[in-house]
Amino acid sequence: MEKYALLINGQQTGQDLDTIEVVNPATSEVIATVPNGSTKEAKKAVDAASEAFKSWSAHSAYERSELVRKWHDLIHENREDLARTMTLEQGKPLKEALGEIDYANGYISWFAEEGKRVYGEQIPATQRDKRMFVTKQPVGVVAVITPWNFPAAMITRKVAPALAAGCTVVIKPAELTPLTAFKLAHLAEEAGIPKGVINVVSGDSKTIGEAWTDDTRVRKLTFTGSTPVGKILMKNSADTMKKISLELGGHAPSIVTQDADLDKAVKGVVASKYRNAGQTCVCTNRIYVHESIVDQFTEKYVAEVKKLKVGNGLDEGIDIGPLIDDRAVDKVKKHIEDAADKGAKIETGGSVKEGLFFEPTVLTGVTDDMLCMSEETFGPLAPITTFKTEEEAVERANDSIYGLAAYVFTENISRGIAICEQLEYGIVGLNDGGPSAPQAPFGGFKQSGLGREGGHQGMDEYLEVKYISVGL
Ligand code: ADP
Repeated sequence: MEKYALLINGQQTGQDLDTIEVVNPATSEVIATVPNGSTKEAKKAVDAASEAFKSWSAHSAYERSELVRKWHDLIHENREDLARTMTLEQGKPLKEALGEIDYANGYISWFAEEGKRVYGEQIPATQRDKRMFVTKQPVGVVAVITPWNFPAAMITRKVAPALAAGCTVVIKPAELTPLTAFKLAHLAEEAGIPKGVINVVSGDSKTIGEAWTDDTRVRKLTFTGSTPVGKILMKNSADTMKKISLELGGHAPSIVTQDADLDKAVKGVVASKYRNAGQTCVCTNRIYVHESIVDQFTEKYVAEVKKLKVGNGLDEGIDIGPLIDDRAVDKVKKHIEDAADKGAKIETGGSVKEGLFFEPTVLTGVTDDMLCMSEETFGPLAPITTFKTEEEAVERANDSIYGLAAYVFTENISRGIAICEQLEYGIVGLNDGGPSAPQAPFGGFKQSGLGREGGHQGMDEYLEVKYISVGL
């Protein structure tokens, strides 16, 4: 069993601290331990990041880009090892883990280039003897707090733009999946990214979170996780007025209209529902199908779902791995029981196969009063309901505190665009069950968060704007 150390200022430390066990959700085996870092380690990490900021921010954008690019190349060389580590600690099938490593690395290559395009402006002055310039500067030390569902991508989406902009980072990975984060950070060191630019502290989330939100040297907090924790971090960041980016919960609707191509719709809604066993914030949580086609849609959908293979992610041909823990299993069970009590029909699945492995489940006859129609399930449960008019579908889709991702399936593209425009969501897939990409802005409306990751918008989150007025 491997014993990991903290990474602070280029040093592996914290071997003398208590440890947290990292468990393989497929087998319940302890696969490694990480140090249970606390306030002291959190502060030391900020000391290192503050010191490193002086020289890292003074590097040219091209120098930073070259080092970030080397990090990308090393991740690519080590993709098999990283993916295996991810499957072991998180459970997702190896092919999905490999996909995540490549996707995560896509953010690194995108931002390595985007860092070269942090342009300023010159504004025409009112007087002849003035010049007005606008420049952009790195915001400073960034605290990065990430969840367990994407152990690599949630880190690179934040760290790559931060580094490209000239910021330094302190990272607290999720307690459940810290190993991929440590491995990524070690590869960054190997790539020549200077010590102190990336620091990783595992440990109690509340203690480390508070040490960083209280610290005036931390100028920005970027978080992906649940909406309740996002609210705590936003409140805790208020006293020191940090810049914040929050990627929080979602409750994605999928709308399948009368004129949808059913095969395309089924493929898209299966992909968006069952990726990572349903444990992503952009997973479809509610399926609205026009009443005239619901029987055909359901038949095809259930047939596809029955083909999905559940098992240990390291085995060949697996589509769905274990859920992350007992709490996750209990939530899916609760949503199914509640829906069944209120009259829903279980078309397939419905229970635990063994351990944390949950059968992919489809429910029909679903009504809006069922828990699964308002709470994020975060599991392999697909509730199907019907609608009569598109106005009704849009209204019900928008009736949520969340506004992250939504999906629309129709062959009538003009109507499809009209629906996309009415949806109060930050990301909409039109005939596309997987819209996320490094070059596109990812983020939500309403209580799904603040700010965007990816795209040129993702760069601005790590930059301050400075206006320089020159009297000649
Ligand atoms: P999830 O439901 O995905 O686990 P959480 O919001 O609970 O979402 O966790 C996401 C990340 O936030 C994890 O790294 C977790 O350790 C961290 N976290 C949880 N509670 C707090 C807190 N009070 N302060 C700071 N970080 C926290």
